[in-house]
Amino acid sequence: MKLRSLVSLAVALIAVFILCAGGLGGFLGGGTAAAGCIPVATSPGSSSPTMTAPVAGPTLWPAIGDWDSGQVGNAAAITITGARLGVPGRGWVIAVATAMQESTLRNLAGGDRDSVGLFQQRPSQGWGTPAQLQDPVYASEKFFGKLGAIDGWQTMPLTEAAQAVQISAYPDAYAKWEGPAAELVTAIAETAGLPTDGLAGCGAVGPWTQPVLAPVGSAFRSSDRPGHDGVDFSAPRGTVIRAASAGTVRTVRCNAVYADSGAEWGCHRDGDPIRTRGCGWYVDIDHAGGLLTRYCHMDKPPMVAVGQQVVVGQPIGVVGSTGHSSGPHLHYEVHQNGDASANGAIDPVPFMVAQGAPLGAPPV
Ligand SMILES: [Zn+2]
Repeated sequence: MKLRSLVSLAVALIAVFILCAGGLGGFLGGGTAAAGCIPVATSPGSSSPTMTAPVAGPTLWPAIGDWDSGQVGNAAAITITGARLGVPGRGWVIAVATAMQESTLRNLAGGDRDSVGLFQQRPSQGWGTPAQLQDPVYASEKFFGKLGAIDGWQTMPLTEAAQAVQISAYPDAYAKWEGPAAELVTAIAETAGLPTDGLAGCGAVGPWTQPVLAPVGSAFRSSDRPGHDGVDFSAPRGTVIRAASAGTVRTVRCNAVYADSGAEWGCHRDGDPIRTRGCGWYVDIDHAGGLLTRYCHMDKPPMVAVGQQVVVGQPIGVVGSTGHSSGPHLHYEVHQNGDASANGAIDPVPFMVAQGAPLGAPPV
């Protein structure tokens, strides 16, 4: 197969997971318009394809943010290895976040017990020889190999996916690196000319982005549903839901009860439009200026934890039909004055227009 077709095949494979539209105008340099994401349903259980495609980047990487040249170089080795293997961008972020926690992106000669290298992998656990594990490319290949074998890793919370690979004594420590890893990987991908599809911002260049790009169904407080404090988007089950803006996760909860008795219905199964009340699996995120966003009816436990910082566009869960719901959709709310009750709710449609991230169906 010719080089060019290999490259396009690899790019196409990556694009299968998350399609982005609009300018990839520069995470660091900034752009003018908020680019749209077109999240598509993830295919559960699909493992990472093993394609090879040449990718480029500087030999010596510059410092980026708080990370020095050496640390950025190691993150770049991880990112580029992931891209070469055909691993989707979400996997690059998981790997870099893991290395941030395990080694602060330093290629360590030693560590706890016989741990070695960026991911602190252990020769005694069959990861490779100490010399191999100090090769960032080899260490990354081993990480991605194991990640790709985990069923459903693409929709797991970062912590769960990292823990499944690493079997760390401190699994919760990975979550705090999600935002920094997403930012660093995005900057590296743009420099190396890699697709930024599926990375945190998904091409978002403004402070706000659409949580999903899908047709708006039921509107905010319409005449037939005056108590509907948000807007609904019809989207296939499994569609990735993204944080509309950077912030801190306030609430992660299952809220699904029997409409008649108030007894627990649960989020392990779909809700019912008549028999079930509640938001299902949902997330509230606090943003600057007292703003709060809410995302309801997720299919399974959200990917984020209370207190976690998220970046704009970060995947937080997937579309489902838990709680008061007649079928898979996202119910999205915007609140002001830090008021999570119905009193704080405002119409998301004009609000998102004003933020440069209008809601609605993807451009065709
Ligand atoms: Zn709704």
